[in-house]
Amino acid sequence: MRLVFATGNKGKLREAREILGPGFEILSQAEAGIAAEAEENGSTLEENSMLKAEFVHARTGSDCFADVSGLEVEALGGAPGVLSARYAASLPGSGALPHDARANMRRLLDELSALGPGVSRKARFRTVITLCVDGEYHVFEGEVSGRIGTAESGGGGFGYDPVFIPDGFGGRTMAEISEEEKNSVSHRGMALRRMACFLARYKSCLHDADDRPDTMTD
Ligand code: IMP
Repeated sequence: MRLVFATGNKGKLREAREILGPGFEILSQAEAGIAAEAEENGSTLEENSMLKAEFVHARTGSDCFADVSGLEVEALGGAPGVLSARYAASLPGSGALPHDARANMRRLLDELSALGPGVSRKARFRTVITLCVDGEYHVFEGEVSGRIGTAESGGGGFGYDPVFIPDGFGGRTMAEISEEEKNSVSHRGMALRRMACFLARYKSCLHDADDRPDTMTD
């Protein structure tokens, strides 16, 4: 099945292709001929995920999906949340650009250390996927719990991975575990597997409905 993934993020594309496997042909937004980016001006992950999926569907007419993720830190009241990509850029005078991972992590570590040494570092990553198939929209969520480290560690993954320590991996950050380990536990992995499971049932239902002999008689 061919799906356009509403992203240009190489890390997300690699993870989605790996998780969804050979039954899916995943095109990036650019490969589908879209140069512009959707404006993510919603106030929740759900709204932004829908905006991105609608943006791609309106321009391609293709089956597509969008994923939006947010890091929610308990001691920061759920921040950066929907602002995750622009966490440093949203600080007046920071000069940082949106998607500047280093600046985002620096702001996060600074905010937490300003709260003192005893503060909870509990956090979770949440992904909301909006799938558009045959013109209808469906939403899938995934999440992973963990905590924020005190410094960046590891060279894998992308975004906040060097400061996010998922539960169950002996204190290693998401950037220190293998890609396979990340995909098995990540917010995006969970949401993508839920989407794939839905699509498998959806396609087999359509197939069964098409195969059913017409029992209606006059
Ligand atoms: P997006 O809106 O899904 O593109 O992501 C929001 C922010 O979270 C961006 O700063 C991303 O780099 C970051 N992010 C998204 N997914 C991950 C992940 O799997 N690991 C670490 N950071 C991520």
